[in-house]
Amino acid sequence: MIEIDGSQGEGGGQIVRSSLALSAMTGKPLRLSNIRGGRTKPGLLRQHLTGLKAISSICDAEVSGGDLGSKTLTFQPQSIRGGQHSFQVGSAGSAILVAQTILPALMMADQPSTITIGGGTHAAWAPPFDFFDRCFLPLLCRMNANVVSTLNAHGFYPAGGGEIEMQVTPSQSLQGLDLVQRQGELKPRVIALVSKIPTSVGERECDTLRRKTQWAPECFEVINVPRSAGPGNAVLIQCGFDNVTELFMGLGQVGVKAEHVARSVLREARVYLSTDVPVGEYLADQLLMPMGMAAHQGHVSRFRTLPLSLHSQTHIDILKRFLNIRIDVCENDDGSTTVTIQPT
Ligand code: AMP
Repeated sequence: MIEIDGSQGEGGGQIVRSSLALSAMTGKPLRLSNIRGGRTKPGLLRQHLTGLKAISSICDAEVSGGDLGSKTLTFQPQSIRGGQHSFQVGSAGSAILVAQTILPALMMADQPSTITIGGGTHAAWAPPFDFFDRCFLPLLCRMNANVVSTLNAHGFYPAGGGEIEMQVTPSQSLQGLDLVQRQGELKPRVIALVSKIPTSVGERECDTLRRKTQWAPECFEVINVPRSAGPGNAVLIQCGFDNVTELFMGLGQVGVKAEHVARSVLREARVYLSTDVPVGEYLADQLLMPMGMAAHQGHVSRFRTLPLSLHSQTHIDILKRFLNIRIDVCENDDGSTTVTIQPT
Protein backbone atom coordinates (compact mmCIF):
# COMPACT_ATOMS: atom_id res chain seq x y z
CA MET A 1 0.00 0.00 0.00
CA ILE A 2 1.41 3.38 -1.01
CA GLU A 3 0.63 6.06 1.59
CA ILE A 4 0.38 9.62 0.32
CA ASP A 5 -0.11 12.69 2.49
CA GLY A 6 -2.39 14.97 0.44
CA SER A 7 -1.29 18.07 2.36
CA GLN A 8 2.32 17.82 1.20
CA GLY A 9 3.80 20.43 -1.14
CA GLU A 10 1.12 22.04 -3.24
CA GLY A 11 -1.54 20.23 -1.17
CA GLY A 12 -4.37 20.40 -3.73
CA GLY A 13 -6.28 18.35 -6.30
CA GLN A 14 -3.32 17.39 -8.41
CA ILE A 15 -1.93 15.10 -5.68
CA VAL A 16 -5.30 13.31 -5.60
CA ARG A 17 -5.61 12.95 -9.38
CA SER A 18 -1.99 11.90 -9.94
CA SER A 19 -1.98 9.41 -7.08
CA LEU A 20 -5.17 7.78 -8.38
CA ALA A 21 -3.85 7.71 -11.95
CA LEU A 22 -0.56 6.15 -10.84
CA SER A 23 -2.26 3.63 -8.58
CA ALA A 24 -4.59 2.52 -11.40
CA MET A 25 -1.75 2.30 -13.89
CA THR A 26 0.69 0.38 -11.68
CA GLY A 27 -1.92 -1.70 -9.80
CA LYS A 28 -0.40 -0.54 -6.48
CA PRO A 29 -3.06 0.09 -3.79
CA LEU A 30 -3.19 3.60 -2.38
CA ARG A 31 -4.11 5.29 0.89
CA LEU A 32 -4.53 9.06 0.67
CA SER A 33 -4.78 11.10 3.86
CA ASN A 34 -5.18 14.86 4.53
CA ILE A 35 -6.80 15.20 1.10
CA ARG A 36 -6.39 18.76 -0.23
CA GLY A 37 -4.96 19.65 3.17
CA GLY A 38 -3.31 22.74 1.70
CA ARG A 39 -6.62 24.30 0.64
CA THR A 40 -8.94 26.53 2.67
CA LYS A 41 -11.80 24.07 2.02
CA PRO A 42 -10.04 20.69 2.33
CA GLY A 43 -11.44 17.28 1.36
CA LEU A 44 -12.87 15.93 -1.90
CA LEU A 45 -15.00 18.31 -3.97
CA ARG A 46 -17.49 17.20 -6.59
CA GLN A 47 -14.93 17.59 -9.36
CA HIS A 48 -12.46 15.25 -7.59
CA LEU A 49 -15.28 12.79 -6.91
CA THR A 50 -16.02 12.57 -10.64
CA GLY A 51 -12.34 11.85 -11.25
CA LEU A 52 -12.40 9.21 -8.52
CA LYS A 53 -15.60 7.63 -9.87
CA ALA A 54 -14.19 7.64 -13.40
CA ILE A 55 -10.87 6.01 -12.53
CA SER A 56 -12.59 3.53 -10.16
CA SER A 57 -14.94 2.30 -12.86
CA ILE A 58 -12.10 2.02 -15.40
CA CYS A 59 -10.00 -0.18 -13.14
CA ASP A 60 -12.80 -1.81 -11.07
CA ALA A 61 -11.32 -0.37 -7.89
CA GLU A 62 -12.51 -1.03 -4.37
CA VAL A 63 -12.78 2.37 -2.73
CA SER A 64 -13.45 3.40 0.83
CA GLY A 65 -13.89 6.99 1.96
CA GLY A 66 -14.72 8.34 -1.48
CA ASP A 67 -17.45 10.79 -0.44
CA LEU A 68 -18.01 14.51 -0.77
CA GLY A 69 -15.71 16.21 1.78
CA SER A 70 -13.70 13.01 2.53
CA LYS A 71 -10.21 13.73 3.81
CA THR A 72 -9.04 10.12 3.65
CA LEU A 73 -9.57 7.38 1.09
CA THR A 74 -8.21 3.98 0.14
CA PHE A 75 -8.12 2.78 -3.44
CA GLN A 76 -7.50 -0.82 -4.49
CA PRO A 77 -7.33 -1.12 -8.29
CA GLN A 78 -8.00 -4.32 -10.28
CA SER A 79 -7.50 -4.75 -14.03
CA ILE A 80 -7.91 -1.78 -16.39
CA ARG A 81 -11.01 -1.92 -18.61
CA GLY A 82 -11.12 0.06 -21.85
CA GLY A 83 -14.31 0.45 -23.90
CA GLN A 84 -17.09 3.04 -23.83
CA HIS A 85 -17.45 5.19 -20.73
CA SER A 86 -19.32 8.39 -19.97
CA PHE A 87 -18.82 10.68 -16.95
CA GLN A 88 -20.43 13.91 -15.75
CA VAL A 89 -18.75 16.45 -13.50
CA GLY A 90 -22.16 18.02 -12.92
CA SER A 91 -20.86 21.59 -12.46
CA ALA A 92 -18.34 23.82 -14.22
CA GLY A 93 -15.65 21.60 -12.65
CA SER A 94 -13.09 20.69 -15.27
CA ALA A 95 -13.81 17.85 -17.69
CA ILE A 96 -10.17 18.08 -18.81
CA LEU A 97 -8.81 17.30 -15.34
CA VAL A 98 -11.04 14.20 -15.26
CA ALA A 99 -9.67 13.21 -18.69
CA GLN A 100 -6.11 13.60 -17.43
CA THR A 101 -6.87 11.40 -14.41
CA ILE A 102 -8.00 8.44 -16.52
CA LEU A 103 -5.74 8.86 -19.54
CA PRO A 104 -2.62 7.07 -18.21
CA ALA A 105 -4.67 3.97 -17.34
CA LEU A 106 -6.56 4.00 -20.67
CA MET A 107 -3.27 4.16 -22.54
CA MET A 108 -2.43 0.79 -20.95
CA ALA A 109 -5.91 -0.80 -21.20
CA ASP A 110 -6.77 -4.11 -22.86
CA GLN A 111 -8.73 -2.44 -25.69
CA PRO A 112 -9.41 0.99 -27.25
CA SER A 113 -11.71 3.40 -25.42
CA THR A 114 -14.20 6.09 -26.32
CA ILE A 115 -14.85 8.41 -23.40
CA THR A 116 -17.26 11.32 -23.09
CA ILE A 117 -16.98 13.71 -20.15
CA GLY A 118 -19.47 16.46 -19.36
CA GLY A 119 -18.43 19.54 -17.37
CA GLY A 120 -16.34 22.68 -17.76
CA THR A 121 -14.07 22.96 -20.79
CA HIS A 122 -12.88 26.53 -20.16
CA ALA A 123 -12.68 26.83 -16.38
CA ALA A 124 -10.33 28.66 -14.03
CA TRP A 125 -7.38 26.76 -12.52
CA ALA A 126 -7.52 24.00 -15.11
CA PRO A 127 -6.26 23.46 -18.66
CA PRO A 128 -8.72 24.73 -21.25
CA PHE A 129 -9.72 22.17 -23.90
CA ASP A 130 -7.55 23.97 -26.48
CA PHE A 131 -4.46 23.51 -24.27
CA PHE A 132 -5.22 19.80 -23.86
CA ASP A 133 -5.87 19.33 -27.59
CA ARG A 134 -3.17 21.54 -29.12
CA CYS A 135 -0.35 21.62 -26.54
CA PHE A 136 -0.48 18.50 -24.36
CA LEU A 137 -1.85 15.76 -26.66
CA PRO A 138 0.45 16.46 -29.66
CA LEU A 139 3.46 15.94 -27.36
CA LEU A 140 1.90 12.81 -25.89
CA CYS A 141 1.32 11.48 -29.41
CA ARG A 142 4.97 12.22 -30.28
CA MET A 143 5.80 9.93 -27.38
CA ASN A 144 3.88 7.16 -29.21
CA ALA A 145 0.47 7.56 -27.56
CA ASN A 146 -2.64 7.44 -29.71
CA VAL A 147 -5.24 9.84 -28.35
CA VAL A 148 -7.73 11.98 -30.27
CA SER A 149 -9.90 14.55 -28.51
CA THR A 150 -13.00 16.39 -29.71
CA LEU A 151 -14.85 19.31 -28.18
CA ASN A 152 -18.55 18.49 -28.54
CA ALA A 153 -19.77 21.53 -26.59
CA HIS A 154 -18.03 24.42 -24.84
CA GLY A 155 -18.57 24.63 -21.08
CA PHE A 156 -17.56 28.04 -19.72
CA TYR A 157 -17.26 28.91 -16.06
CA PRO A 158 -19.66 29.29 -14.24
CA ALA A 159 -22.36 27.65 -16.41
CA GLY A 160 -20.39 24.49 -17.30
CA GLY A 161 -22.43 22.10 -19.42
CA GLY A 162 -19.67 21.37 -21.94
CA GLU A 163 -18.68 17.99 -23.30
CA ILE A 164 -15.43 16.52 -24.54
CA GLU A 165 -14.82 13.19 -26.22
CA MET A 166 -11.58 11.25 -26.18
CA GLN A 167 -10.57 8.23 -28.23
CA VAL A 168 -7.66 6.31 -26.81
CA THR A 169 -5.91 3.43 -28.55
CA PRO A 170 -3.54 1.74 -26.09
CA SER A 171 0.15 1.88 -26.96
CA GLN A 172 2.59 -0.89 -26.08
CA SER A 173 5.25 1.51 -24.93
CA LEU A 174 5.80 5.26 -24.61
CA GLN A 175 8.97 6.77 -26.07
CA GLY A 176 11.01 9.50 -24.40
CA LEU A 177 10.85 13.13 -25.55
CA ASP A 178 13.53 15.82 -25.70
CA LEU A 179 12.23 19.39 -25.42
CA VAL A 180 15.20 21.57 -24.64
CA GLN A 181 14.99 24.30 -27.31
CA ARG A 182 12.12 26.01 -29.12
CA GLN A 183 12.46 25.34 -32.83
CA GLY A 184 11.43 27.73 -35.63
CA GLU A 185 9.77 31.13 -35.47
CA LEU A 186 6.80 32.04 -33.28
CA LYS A 187 3.49 31.51 -35.07
CA PRO A 188 1.03 33.43 -32.88
CA ARG A 189 -2.72 32.95 -32.93
CA VAL A 190 -5.34 34.70 -30.82
CA ILE A 191 -8.85 33.30 -30.50
CA ALA A 192 -11.58 35.10 -28.60
CA LEU A 193 -14.49 32.77 -27.82
CA VAL A 194 -17.87 34.32 -27.04
CA SER A 195 -21.08 32.56 -26.14
CA LYS A 196 -24.39 34.28 -25.55
CA ILE A 197 -22.72 37.66 -25.02
CA PRO A 198 -22.07 40.39 -27.60
CA THR A 199 -19.44 39.55 -30.23
CA SER A 200 -18.00 43.02 -29.53
CA VAL A 201 -16.50 41.64 -26.28
CA GLY A 202 -14.28 39.28 -28.31
CA GLU A 203 -13.52 42.05 -30.81
CA ARG A 204 -12.36 44.38 -28.02
CA GLU A 205 -10.08 41.65 -26.65
CA CYS A 206 -8.58 41.09 -30.10
CA ASP A 207 -8.20 44.86 -30.68
CA THR A 208 -6.34 45.28 -27.39
CA LEU A 209 -3.99 42.40 -28.17
CA ARG A 210 -3.45 43.50 -31.78
CA ARG A 211 -2.42 46.99 -30.62
CA LYS A 212 -0.09 45.65 -27.94
CA THR A 213 1.58 42.88 -29.95
CA GLN A 214 1.57 44.26 -33.51
CA TRP A 215 0.89 40.70 -34.71
CA ALA A 216 -0.64 40.52 -38.19
CA PRO A 217 -4.45 40.92 -38.43
CA GLU A 218 -4.87 37.37 -39.77
CA CYS A 219 -3.56 36.01 -36.44
CA PHE A 220 -6.79 37.16 -34.73
CA GLU A 221 -10.18 35.47 -34.75
CA VAL A 222 -13.43 35.92 -32.86
CA ILE A 223 -15.54 32.74 -32.66
CA ASN A 224 -19.18 32.86 -31.70
CA VAL A 225 -19.56 29.47 -30.04
CA PRO A 226 -22.61 27.66 -31.36
CA ARG A 227 -23.22 25.00 -28.69
CA SER A 228 -22.75 26.15 -25.14
CA ALA A 229 -24.77 26.48 -21.97
CA GLY A 230 -23.10 29.95 -21.71
CA PRO A 231 -22.88 32.82 -21.24
CA GLY A 232 -19.13 32.75 -21.47
CA ASN A 233 -15.99 34.31 -22.87
CA ALA A 234 -12.38 33.18 -23.08
CA VAL A 235 -9.46 34.68 -24.94
CA LEU A 236 -6.67 32.32 -25.93
CA ILE A 237 -3.14 33.28 -26.94
CA GLN A 238 -1.55 30.39 -28.78
CA CYS A 239 2.22 30.46 -29.22
CA GLY A 240 3.16 27.88 -31.82
CA PHE A 241 6.73 26.80 -32.56
CA ASP A 242 7.83 23.92 -34.81
CA ASN A 243 8.28 21.50 -31.91
CA VAL A 244 5.97 22.83 -29.19
CA THR A 245 2.81 24.89 -28.76
CA GLU A 246 1.95 26.83 -25.63
CA LEU A 247 -1.42 28.41 -24.92
CA PHE A 248 -2.56 30.97 -22.37
CA MET A 249 -6.16 31.66 -21.41
CA GLY A 250 -7.94 34.70 -20.02
CA LEU A 251 -11.48 34.08 -18.78
CA GLY A 252 -14.08 36.81 -19.16
CA GLN A 253 -16.05 37.56 -16.02
CA VAL A 254 -19.03 39.74 -15.19
CA GLY A 255 -17.73 43.15 -14.09
CA VAL A 256 -14.25 42.68 -15.62
CA LYS A 257 -13.58 44.70 -18.76
CA ALA A 258 -12.63 42.86 -21.96
CA GLU A 259 -9.49 45.02 -22.22
CA HIS A 260 -8.43 43.93 -18.74
CA VAL A 261 -8.94 40.22 -19.59
CA ALA A 262 -6.81 40.71 -22.72
CA ARG A 263 -4.02 42.55 -20.90
CA SER A 264 -3.75 39.99 -18.13
CA VAL A 265 -3.50 36.98 -20.46
CA LEU A 266 -0.89 38.87 -22.50
CA ARG A 267 1.19 39.42 -19.35
CA GLU A 268 1.16 35.64 -18.83
CA ALA A 269 2.13 34.90 -22.43
CA ARG A 270 4.93 37.47 -22.26
CA VAL A 271 6.51 35.79 -19.23
CA TYR A 272 6.91 32.71 -21.44
CA LEU A 273 7.85 34.57 -24.64
CA SER A 274 10.49 36.69 -22.88
CA THR A 275 12.51 33.50 -22.29
CA ASP A 276 13.64 30.86 -24.79
CA VAL A 277 12.31 27.81 -22.91
CA PRO A 278 9.98 25.50 -24.86
CA VAL A 279 7.90 24.38 -21.86
CA GLY A 280 5.78 26.79 -19.78
CA GLU A 281 4.72 26.43 -16.16
CA TYR A 282 1.54 24.40 -16.67
CA LEU A 283 2.83 22.16 -19.43
CA ALA A 284 5.80 21.31 -17.17
CA ASP A 285 3.69 19.78 -14.40
CA GLN A 286 1.49 17.94 -16.92
CA LEU A 287 4.35 16.50 -19.00
CA LEU A 288 5.88 14.89 -15.92
CA MET A 289 3.24 12.11 -15.92
CA PRO A 290 3.80 10.74 -19.48
CA MET A 291 7.54 11.27 -19.17
CA GLY A 292 7.49 9.37 -15.87
CA MET A 293 5.56 6.55 -17.57
CA ALA A 294 8.11 6.46 -20.41
CA ALA A 295 11.00 6.36 -17.91
CA HIS A 296 9.29 3.52 -16.03
CA GLN A 297 9.34 1.65 -19.38
CA GLY A 298 13.05 2.39 -19.88
CA HIS A 299 13.09 5.65 -21.90
CA VAL A 300 14.75 8.96 -21.04
CA SER A 301 13.01 12.35 -21.44
CA ARG A 302 14.26 15.85 -20.87
CA PHE A 303 12.72 19.31 -20.98
CA ARG A 304 13.72 22.89 -20.26
CA THR A 305 11.28 25.18 -18.50
CA LEU A 306 10.89 28.19 -16.19
CA PRO A 307 11.67 27.79 -12.47
CA LEU A 308 9.59 24.82 -11.31
CA SER A 309 6.20 25.57 -9.75
CA LEU A 310 5.19 23.97 -6.46
CA HIS A 311 2.77 21.87 -8.56
CA SER A 312 5.69 20.44 -10.53
CA GLN A 313 7.84 19.87 -7.45
CA THR A 314 5.01 18.02 -5.71
CA HIS A 315 4.23 16.02 -8.84
CA ILE A 316 7.86 14.87 -8.99
CA ASP A 317 7.62 13.58 -5.39
CA ILE A 318 4.40 11.67 -6.14
CA LEU A 319 5.76 10.09 -9.35
CA LYS A 320 8.86 8.85 -7.54
CA ARG A 321 6.68 7.11 -4.93
CA PHE A 322 5.02 4.90 -7.59
CA LEU A 323 7.51 4.47 -10.44
CA ASN A 324 11.05 3.13 -10.71
CA ILE A 325 12.41 6.38 -12.05
CA ARG A 326 14.93 9.05 -11.31
CA ILE A 327 14.16 12.76 -11.84
CA ASP A 328 17.00 15.30 -11.87
CA VAL A 329 16.28 19.01 -11.69
CA CYS A 330 19.08 21.34 -12.78
CA GLU A 331 18.80 25.11 -12.33
CA ASN A 332 20.69 26.71 -15.21
CA ASP A 333 22.68 29.98 -15.10
CA ASP A 334 20.18 31.68 -17.46
CA GLY A 335 17.35 31.18 -14.93
CA SER A 336 15.79 28.23 -16.77
CA THR A 337 15.43 24.73 -15.33
CA THR A 338 16.25 21.44 -17.04
CA VAL A 339 14.36 18.36 -15.87
CA THR A 340 15.63 14.90 -16.83
CA ILE A 341 13.43 11.85 -16.21
CA GLN A 342 15.03 8.45 -16.60
CA PRO A 343 14.83 4.84 -15.44
CA THR A 344 16.61 4.12 -12.14
P1 AMP B 1 -4.85 21.67 -9.03
O1 AMP B 1 -4.71 23.15 -8.76
O2 AMP B 1 -4.03 20.86 -8.10
O3 AMP B 1 -6.26 21.22 -9.14
O4 AMP B 1 -4.19 21.40 -10.50
C1 AMP B 1 -4.51 22.21 -11.60
C2 AMP B 1 -3.91 21.66 -12.88
O5 AMP B 1 -4.40 22.45 -13.95
C3 AMP B 1 -2.39 21.69 -12.98
O6 AMP B 1 -1.93 20.52 -13.65
C4 AMP B 1 -2.11 22.92 -13.86
O7 AMP B 1 -0.95 22.77 -14.67
C5 AMP B 1 -3.34 22.97 -14.74
N1 AMP B 1 -3.70 24.35 -15.15
C6 AMP B 1 -4.20 25.33 -14.36
N2 AMP B 1 -4.42 26.46 -15.08
C7 AMP B 1 -4.04 26.18 -16.35
C8 AMP B 1 -4.01 26.93 -17.57
N3 AMP B 1 -4.43 28.19 -17.64
N4 AMP B 1 -3.54 26.32 -18.70
C9 AMP B 1 -3.12 25.04 -18.64
N5 AMP B 1 -3.13 24.28 -17.54
C10 AMP B 1 -3.57 24.83 -16.40
